[in-house]
Amino acid sequence: MSELHCPSYYAATRNDLKDYPALKGDITVDVCVIGAGFTGISAALALTERGFKVAVVEANKVGWGASGRNGGQAGYSIKGEDNVIRSNGPGAEKIINELTWRGHEIIKERVEKYQIQCDLKHGNMAAAIKPRHMDELKEEYEYQCSLGFEDRFQLVEKDNLRDYIGTDEYIGGLYTDLDFHIHPLNLCLGEARAAAGLGTQIFEHSPVDNIIHGKEPIVVTKQGRVKAQHVVLAGNAYHQLEKRKIGGVLFPAGTYIIGTEPLPEATLEEILPKNQSVWDMSIFLAYFRRSADNRILYGGECNYSGRDPKSIKATMLPHMTQTFPMLKDVKIEFEWGGMIGITITRTPQVGRINDNVYYAQGYSGHGVNGTHIMGEILADAITGQMERYDIFAKAKQHRIPVPRWVGNQMLALGMLYYRIKDLF
Ligand SMILES: Cc1cc2nc3c(=O)[nH]c(=O)nc-3n(C[C@H](O)[C@H](O)[C@H](O)COP(=O)(O)OP(=O)(O)OC[C@H]3O[C@@H](n4cnc5c(N)ncnc54)[C@H](O)[C@@H]3O)c2cc1C
Repeated sequence: MSELHCPSYYAATRNDLKDYPALKGDITVDVCVIGAGFTGISAALALTERGFKVAVVEANKVGWGASGRNGGQAGYSIKGEDNVIRSNGPGAEKIINELTWRGHEIIKERVEKYQIQCDLKHGNMAAAIKPRHMDELKEEYEYQCSLGFEDRFQLVEKDNLRDYIGTDEYIGGLYTDLDFHIHPLNLCLGEARAAAGLGTQIFEHSPVDNIIHGKEPIVVTKQGRVKAQHVVLAGNAYHQLEKRKIGGVLFPAGTYIIGTEPLPEATLEEILPKNQSVWDMSIFLAYFRRSADNRILYGGECNYSGRDPKSIKATMLPHMTQTFPMLKDVKIEFEWGGMIGITITRTPQVGRINDNVYYAQGYSGHGVNGTHIMGEILADAITGQMERYDIFAKAKQHRIPVPRWVGNQMLALGMLYYRIKDLF
């Protein structure tokens, strides 16, 4: 069944109400993209800019999936980079390092070029709970200094932490003003509108049932078909296509966000005086930031059970108020969740089902930057530039050859182990 955007702070404040038609009848294009999240729209825009005739076929609405629901934190780098280097040899390190900030560059270029209003604000912080987290952050800080970024990263010790976050829950953090946060749905809708303006055909409410493989693959929906030279499968945690070839690697996990009522400036100044986004290193994986209209958007959890909590608010609120007791009486006006695609190596799963059907998925909760990088890498591959694509396609992935729900239960048990470990 096809759905509208999930009720969230983002859906309530989206600044583009455009509806795209459903696919009806047969069309022929150069590239057909399945899924209109950041991966799909990013690839479609990059390809359309290069002169390809592109169609995007989306089951629900543009930005309906994780891309329109997430914490909005654009953190640098891609997850699972060490695995990419190990799988390819040291030569891959240079490419990986060059890609670190590429997603950020693409987003900022597009925001500027296409005048996308998405509340982009610089500043992000990783917050440590335990001394071993602080050791990791120190190591990362030293690495960034060795690359010449000492002016752009600050290692913040407990004594100075209140200049960044108004809580005593954390023992320190690593701040960078190179990262940023955005209203993700407005970014995705803006990129889609930019692509459509250049000629991308976008179809909503058109779930793809099947891909007929061949020299010219055909993407099939209930009411239409798209024949193409190339197909890009960008359904991430939400699709069930091509299970035989690419199943057993990607595991969907739920993560949730609550949004407070708009808060007085003095409270916000106390909680996040620098207006940066924050993610913490607890097993709960809290992430939070201010919205453009002065709310706190507080997210967390990585739930493999396949069942959303009965009440998202009741699950999230105790965590938020433990960190920020001054929020205990505020009204919660929004609660929502979405699915992220996790791989065991944490490296995105990128490759080809055959010569002309590509896929990219499994950003392991770190997709704002990663999806934009992969969109460009897929566009490169379709244009015949394989170098960056190849290192990800060769990266080792662990397959759990059992149905998804069994795999998810196994991962849930693994997470339980880490939760217990995190208590000590
Ligand atoms: C609550 C939440 C918080 C997050 N916070 C952050 C964060 O702060 N920072 C960060 O970097 N990452 C974050 N992430 C992860 C990030 O949002 C994702 O990695 C990223 O958006 C994935 O984009 P995507 O385009 O690959 O997939 P999605 O955005 O999920 O898009 C997939 C699309 O494919 C469509 N689709 C699926 N099957 C079909 C089909 N058969 N036919 C047609 N269409 C289909 C879906 O309807 C959907 O619109 C978060 C995710 C969630 C859920």
